[in-house]
Amino acid sequence: MGSNPVTWLGSPVFPKAAKAALADTQLRRNLRKATHTIRDKRTRVVSELPDWEELRRAGEAIKDDVLSNLDTYLERIEAAVTARGGVVHWARDAREANEIVLRLAREAGTDEVVKVKSMATAEIGLNEALEAGGIRAIETDLAELIVQLGHDRPSHILVPAIHRNRSEIKEIFQREMAEKPVSDEPRELAEAARRHLRRKFLSAKVAVSGANFGVADTGSIVVVESEGNGRMCLTLPEVLITVMGIEKLVPTWQDLEVFLQLLPRSSTAERMNPYTSVWTGVTPGDGPQQFHLVLLDNGRTDALADRVGRQALRCIRCSACLNVCPVYERTGGQAYGSVYPGPIGAILSPQLVNDMHDKQAASLPYASSLCGACYEVCPVRINIPEVLVHLRAEAVEAKGRTPESVGMAALGWLFADARRYENAQKVGSLARHLAPSGRISSLPWPGSKWTSTRDVPTPPAESFRTWWRRNRG
Ligand code: SF4
Repeated sequence: MGSNPVTWLGSPVFPKAAKAALADTQLRRNLRKATHTIRDKRTRVVSELPDWEELRRAGEAIKDDVLSNLDTYLERIEAAVTARGGVVHWARDAREANEIVLRLAREAGTDEVVKVKSMATAEIGLNEALEAGGIRAIETDLAELIVQLGHDRPSHILVPAIHRNRSEIKEIFQREMAEKPVSDEPRELAEAARRHLRRKFLSAKVAVSGANFGVADTGSIVVVESEGNGRMCLTLPEVLITVMGIEKLVPTWQDLEVFLQLLPRSSTAERMNPYTSVWTGVTPGDGPQQFHLVLLDNGRTDALADRVGRQALRCIRCSACLNVCPVYERTGGQAYGSVYPGPIGAILSPQLVNDMHDKQAASLPYASSLCGACYEVCPVRINIPEVLVHLRAEAVEAKGRTPESVGMAALGWLFADARRYENAQKVGSLARHLAPSGRISSLPWPGSKWTSTRDVPTPPAESFRTWWRRNRG
């Protein structure tokens, strides 16, 4: 297990976690209902735009330009933020980023921070690091709050509590909140969360956010959200700390326009998200009077060096790929043992961990049937299946010589010669006596690796080659 908190310490490899998740029928019901609702709605709003494909290609091109010239754009945003009264910090990894945020919160003299929903801060394990330093982090996004109060882990990028239904949420709120909801009506649950959070918004001195985009030209930071909790965090406290992955840049405001069309339709299936907050440095007398931008690498420059894998850095975290993935729909997000679940998690997490000897991370590229649905919906055209296959090759290489690789080499030797292959077929056809029914459902090791999840059809009595020779030869 690696030391990067992007994967959760102690998580089993994906096949093991998936097997356990598949036994939870309630989880599968919750997931099926939620993912199908969002995906159907997304299809409808996307089909309204005749230029959707052009928008996708524009999003891909802008992100590729950013990734190819990342050094230039990063220096540009640093200069712009500094010129507008903000302070820029550089963090190589999770530890450095957490230390910066902890120090800033301490300097502000607080023991509590409010948080805008942020994948970057989840990726670095910020809440745990702050808690270890004596500072409590309060999640203000409704779904994140459900996860936090339930002492749970998120299972979706956009809807972290997607695995919970409303009666489970009512139980969590009744257990954890001072003013308890009386029913599981959505309005009642939302009202309970509102009462719980309002006090926190009004008293917090420091807020921590992530960022959906950073505009390099002007130093403007953009957060899009649906609930308005983010807006409260971004405007009320005295100090605002934003942790942003270095790949989140767009060059100009004009480029932002493309993503403000792509993101809401792909994520919440809305034509426009209800709240788009944009701020540039510090404005005297208005909003936070101290602004800190933490630029986070944490494995991104290593991913950038990989010609195939780097396309994962185009991701705008819309989660459309999760909602269409047949594997995600059945296992849920927690089986991925990572902050980033689903298809994007299967290609991003192993790259951020950057250690294919980490068995859990190396198992993630196999969490796919390679059906390609994720590629079709991705608003920035990340070819997820291509990266999955590429990472599988890396995982195999890292394993070195195994019984499987020896077996594959032996098969390669057999298939390389027509006579050897034919003789092997003759020997193989004897296996049909093992299963007169036509299917073999149990084989001794190493064949048991196959038959534990699938049947094997018995070989025919005669190969096509022999039949051809007998009838036409
Ligand atoms: S990989 Fe594409 S579809 Fe998946 S979350 Fe990222 S941008 Fe969205």
